[in-house]
Amino acid sequence: MSVCLQSLTPEILQDHLKEWGEPAYRGGQILDWIYRKRVGDIDEMSNLPKKLRERLSQDFRSALPECVRKQGSDDTTQKFLWRLEDGAMVESVLIPANPALYGEASDRHTLCVSTQVGCAYGCKFCASGLDGWKRNLLPEEIVGQLLSVEHYFRSKLGKDQDRKVNNLVIMGMGEPMANYEHLMKALSIVNAPWGCNIGARKITISTSGLAPQIELLAKEPYQFRLAISLHGATDEVRSQIMPVNRKYPIQVLMDACQTYIREKGKMITFEYILIEGVNDGMDQVAPLADWAQKMHSKVNLIPYNSVDGLSWKRPAEDVQESFLEGLLQRGVKATLRREKGHDIDAACGQLRLKVEKEG
Ligand code: SAH
Ligand code: SF4
Repeated sequence: MSVCLQSLTPEILQDHLKEWGEPAYRGGQILDWIYRKRVGDIDEMSNLPKKLRERLSQDFRSALPECVRKQGSDDTTQKFLWRLEDGAMVESVLIPANPALYGEASDRHTLCVSTQVGCAYGCKFCASGLDGWKRNLLPEEIVGQLLSVEHYFRSKLGKDQDRKVNNLVIMGMGEPMANYEHLMKALSIVNAPWGCNIGARKITISTSGLAPQIELLAKEPYQFRLAISLHGATDEVRSQIMPVNRKYPIQVLMDACQTYIREKGKMITFEYILIEGVNDGMDQVAPLADWAQKMHSKVNLIPYNSVDGLSWKRPAEDVQESFLEGLLQRGVKATLRREKGHDIDAACGQLRLKVEKEG
């Protein structure tokens, strides 16, 4: 398969430019167009000679995800459904940093991207795994989600528009740590000064708890933020809803987290979705608080988003609030997400599922 524009690096370009008899500085110009100016159409790269533009189109392919559906208005949470080169579909969600609660727009945005088509981990509550796992996304398809979102706004709002995405969270469809190599390649481009130039501290990787890969990530030269999808504070509860817990039980997972914290000198976050009658009992508060304190972690409580075809529900608001209160009283740093995006199927995997069923 030919090299893709959305995964070009200075090294790859250098070789080609030499072969084509072009000066090396053209490499910087090309990367600038692709990643910084975020231009998808080679003909728009106006400071490149026509001959070079032709060579670029001939020798490199473009794998920009194509938007097949978008939900949400421009100043709220928006969801993009993408079709990839082979017809597979994945999603990204764009979330304004300050929810436009009072009608004001915000220009700081977090983009949530997918890393796989489907998911093999089969968490019982999650839409992404319902149809199983199809394939890993390529590095260019991960970077491409970010670039396609920028192209969307550029074509809509004009080319002087500032970049939309300041933060990246790897919390879309799929288990990022199960596509480790492609993820690292993609994030190295997203992070690079010659690439999308988004700082590692603005990139959060969420995992259902693949302990060996967490140990690997601890050795990488990046300060990514790490979020652990815990969703159960005892093995008994967690194994019921997350099969991965049978392979890497909580203690094994926490040992890996400890390595990450030690190597990076950073805090990690526990994600905890509250599901009625499953993990919202007060019996989970004390063990969750213990883990959070041992690991100096923050806890994000997230009311469950219902999924078509699954019978799980979010607990009533007073149950959510008491769970939060229980953690706070034990001195844990915790927040409760008081929803955005519920109405647009913003939880991972839901939009794809809906469109595939329709279609
Ligand atoms: N596979 C990774 C990243 C993708 S899932 C992981 O599991 O962490 C991103 C987050 O969305 C996870 O915390 C996951 O548990 C959560 N999630 C999945 N389905 C959800 C739903 N229906 N409602 C709320 N959160 C959900
Ligand atoms: Fe996969 Fe994460 Fe969904 Fe579990 S929660 S099935 S790991 S995407």
